[in-house]
Amino acid sequence: MSRAIVVICLLLSGVVSFADVNMGAPIDVYIEHSDPNHEQVILDAMKYWEKHRSVSFNIVENVNDADIVVRWAEDINGKGEFGGRGGYVIVDTSRKEIVLEYFGNGLKWWLYGKRVLKMVAIHEFGHTLGLQDTNKLGDVMNPKSIRIPSKTTLKIIGFLLPASSFFMLVFIVRHYLSYLRAKRERYELERFMKE
Ligand SMILES: [Zn+2]
Repeated sequence: MSRAIVVICLLLSGVVSFADVNMGAPIDVYIEHSDPNHEQVILDAMKYWEKHRSVSFNIVENVNDADIVVRWAEDINGKGEFGGRGGYVIVDTSRKEIVLEYFGNGLKWWLYGKRVLKMVAIHEFGHTLGLQDTNKLGDVMNPKSIRIPSKTTLKIIGFLLPASSFFMLVFIVRHYLSYLRAKRERYELERFMKE
């Protein structure tokens, strides 16, 4: 049975409504401006669904043209789906809005922001496509599969990382100095044997 016949049967049976079936028309998405790193992750999340579902997205420049609006929040105020963080979806009658935590561009972003944001964005886009949360292991729609480090953990990492690189530097310098000393001793020994 072709996809079109399946869709028609589902529509006639009332299992799905016309709103649930995107008949190949692209979904218009407006992404609030942030920075290239964060915006790229959103494009990657959209590509994920284009690959795994028969949907296509179209970026629009005007927020009023959008079916889905992606917004950023520096502080998500405990509203996020993942231990109060990450992101959530607001479903309006006219459109859906995805609010995502902005991770900045410092250490936080490079340590876990990029990886976490992609998973959060895929999850929230999943909701806008009508998918519900699951508890299936390893499923992108399982909110438990996304863990965001607490602020305390980050403070500890923020302290340990510079501290460990300092000790690493001391270690390297000490080894280099002992290498130079060994080289000089060997050179002097060779010179002594020649004499
Ligand atoms: Zn969810």
